[in-house]
Amino acid sequence: MRKKNQIEDLTGQRFGLLTVTSMNKVELECEIRTGCTYICDCGALGTTIARYLKRGSKEHCGSFECKKKLNAQRMQSSYKPHEDHFGVKNYAN
Ligand SMILES: [Zn+2]
Repeated sequence: MRKKNQIEDLTGQRFGLLTVTSMNKVELECEIRTGCTYICDCGALGTTIARYLKRGSKEHCGSFECKKKLNAQRMQSSYKPHEDHFGVKNYAN
């Protein structure tokens, strides 16, 4: 019933390469938003808007290396179940 204004605690959750270490407030465009402090796999610390993490628009600290790493992880792990949909035959010459 009181879901609307509830601040979801994302502490400990992983989004891409980022692990949320604590929740806080972030001011963005003169509004106070729910923010997350995160640590990236490379050790970089930062703060972002919680909603960015949840919708998948923030998944690494922003460095080129981490972007590459994330892409590589995706290729290896999560694409297998979808092979049928993408059509494995396309890889043949
Ligand atoms: Zn990083």
